[in-house]
This record gives sequence, structure tokens and C-alpha cells, in this order.
Amino acid sequence: MNSLITILVVLAGVLGLLIGSFLNVVAYRVPAKISLLRESRCPHCDTAITPWQNVPVVSWIALRGRCANCKAPISARYPIVEAATGVAFAVVAWWGLTSAGVTTGGGMTTAHAWAAGIVIVAYLYFAAISIVLTLIDLDTHRLPNSIVLPSYLVAGILFTLAAWLTGEWGRLLVAGIGMAAMYLFYFLLRAARPGGMGGGDVKLAGVIGIYLGWLGWGALAVGAFAAFLFGGVFGIALMLFRRAGRKTAIPFGPWMILGAWTGVFAGEAVGEWYVNLFVGV
Ligand SMILES: [Zn+2]
Repeated sequence: MNSLITILVVLAGVLGLLIGSFLNVVAYRVPAKISLLRESRCPHCDTAITPWQNVPVVSWIALRGRCANCKAPISARYPIVEAATGVAFAVVAWWGLTSAGVTTGGGMTTAHAWAAGIVIVAYLYFAAISIVLTLIDLDTHRLPNSIVLPSYLVAGILFTLAAWLTGEWGRLLVAGIGMAAMYLFYFLLRAARPGGMGGGDVKLAGVIGIYLGWLGWGALAVGAFAAFLFGGVFGIALMLFRRAGRKTAIPFGPWMILGAWTGVFAGEAVGEWYVNLFVGV
């Protein structure tokens, strides 16, 4: 890893810590329909939280997990989400910078460098909504439209810009096909078995299809399949060990998201391996 990449990965990690702090606010306030602009207050004593008490991870440790005023406990979920977002952003930045060919140094045009940056921003955004949607789906069994629907616009604009800069319109086309295919697939699943998938799952599937399709057919296939593999294995384990009934509602969104990231990081490699099985190397 060269020093420029190291610096960028560390910066992405620090940005992730700050975004993680914001995601905690979003995960709590969006389902409760509270404005994101309101200042943060202790839910127990209603004292305003100062900037120094709001430093990601550090403040929670310094305050030993308690409100500075009333000593009411502050959930460990907050620093955990902040740290997880920091790690996720660093990993996505590293993946984007190395897979975009930045490590090779020269030989990259300015347009390609800009496109690589835009694509990394797109996947950092995907990481952020992945974390906040997982939290909200686990808490409330919902995937709010206010987060899922604008994601089509964000991904659409960023990938169109990247395609325009590099001329890789084929990738944008596969991203569009991925969006339509995933949306349709989940739409049909929902129609076939009402009460299984939620409408939020169908809408999220389209967003995931864009992100997987941009990387290729392998990522799309692996990402789509992995969700059912993970969800299925977990569902069977739950039935065996906790004797949950077949009707126990388990949100599927987190499995879709985990499957999507499996597709992002491993999909193309798995796809190539699978094709080679039949074609021969
Ligand atoms: Zn308090």
C-alpha cells in the first residue's frame, strides 16, 4: 500500500466515524418522525449534548457510557455503530482505490481518476445506507421510503457521471438491468407469497441491483443469491435452536444487504471461478 492510499483510507475511516454518529441519529429519529435538525439531548434528563460529548467513540468511553449530567446509561450501540461505520468506510475506500488501479501510479487519466473517486463516493453512500437500513429494519421491520427512494437518484447520478467520464456506458447499462431484474424478482416473490417480503424489500432490491450490476454479472448473481443463502441458513438455525415458528417474522433487509456486500467484494471472483468450471482455463 503506498502512502497516498494509506492517507486516503485513514481519512475515509475518520469520515466514517462522523457519518456513523449521524447514522445513529437517523436510525433513531427517522422511524420516530423527529426532525434530523433538532439538537441532540439526553433522552433521560433532556440536557443538551455538547460537541465534546459528541465525539464518535471517544466521548462514550470518556463518559464511561453515562450521561455527563444525570449519569443515565448510554447504549453501547452508539459507539459500536460509529466504529463499524469507520471500519466500513476505510474498507470501501481501500477496495475502491486498489480495484480502480490507483496503486499503479501513472497511466491514469484525470477523467478516470475523477470517475474512480465518484464510484468510491457511491459505494461509501451505499455503506452508509446499508448500516442505517439494517438498524432500522431490525428495530422496526421497516425500510423507510425516505431513505430507500432517494438512493435511486444518488446512485443514478453518480454512476451516470462515472460512465460519462470514462465512456464505460456498458457498465451503466448492466447497472440498469441489475436494478430492473432485482426489483422484478423481489416484486414477483412478494406477489407469489404475500406477507413474506415487504414492499420496502422490493424497493431496496432495485437499489442493490444498481450497485451489483455496475460491477458486473458475477457480482449481480452472487449478491442476489447470497441474500437467500444467508437468510435461509439463519432461518433454519433459528428454527432449530430457538424453536421459532415458520411464521416468526425475521426482517429480510439485513440479509439482502449482507448478500449485496458479498457480491460487491467477492462476486466477480466467484463468477469467474464458476465460468471457468465449465469453460476451462
Ligand atoms: Zn442525562
